[in-house]
Amino acid sequence: MSNSVADWPPIGILGGTFDPVHIGHLRLAIEASEILHLSMVRMVPLHQPNHRAAPVASGGRRFEMLSAAIDGSLLVADDRELQRGGISFTFDTLESLRADFARHPLCLLVGADAFYGLCEWHRWRELLTYGHLVVVARPDTGAELDPRLQQLVDTVAIADPDILRHELHGRIYFQPIPPLPISSTDIRARVASGRDIRYLVPPPVQRLIDQYQLYKSSV
Ligand code: ATP
Repeated sequence: MSNSVADWPPIGILGGTFDPVHIGHLRLAIEASEILHLSMVRMVPLHQPNHRAAPVASGGRRFEMLSAAIDGSLLVADDRELQRGGISFTFDTLESLRADFARHPLCLLVGADAFYGLCEWHRWRELLTYGHLVVVARPDTGAELDPRLQQLVDTVAIADPDILRHELHGRIYFQPIPPLPISSTDIRARVASGRDIRYLVPPPVQRLIDQYQLYKSSV
């Protein structure tokens, strides 16, 4: 596939554990879609992480919470990693999205924390053969980049986000977004200690957490 001018609107991809999905994820998707003119953001819950502990809630519950949090128009819940099973490699996910959306620029949205560990990802350099990387700022990061990653940044990073609309893949763009210091870890800890999580997650997500008694004992 050539990396030529694209006539089709770019699609965002936000992978995550979503254990549970919270307003930090949702605002990130909205902010990115506005700045990058995304036609949709596909939110992809992982099945099994490669480099961290298994999620607390099952894939089915996490997907149910995600689906309940969004209306399915701009933000779309995508269960391809749960369906695929096994360890969830972003490379496989981008490959399958590229097969489904051959003519759209694909913009993989990653938090700065995730980006710093990119060199540990399966086939990380090849991610850019399928899509762009959009690195969104998040609090609590600021370490130096791995030199291999720095070299890649020096080669392909762009300052003008419009370029992402006109090329199918291959670029890195750093997008500042207003920081929301919210994490799923913190939400699980609050539930486990009986604290109030209103306004950290959308109301339907809170109802499902209550209904299924999720995160009561485990963080
Ligand atoms: P945990 O606390 O369990 O690690 P998390 O809140 O970081 O979870 P993930 O599902 O692991 O959520 O995150 C998915 C993606 O969303 C990652 O790229 C992460 O950097 C980003 N992200 C999560 N929370 C925020 C936030 N508050 N602001 C911006 N980006 C976020």
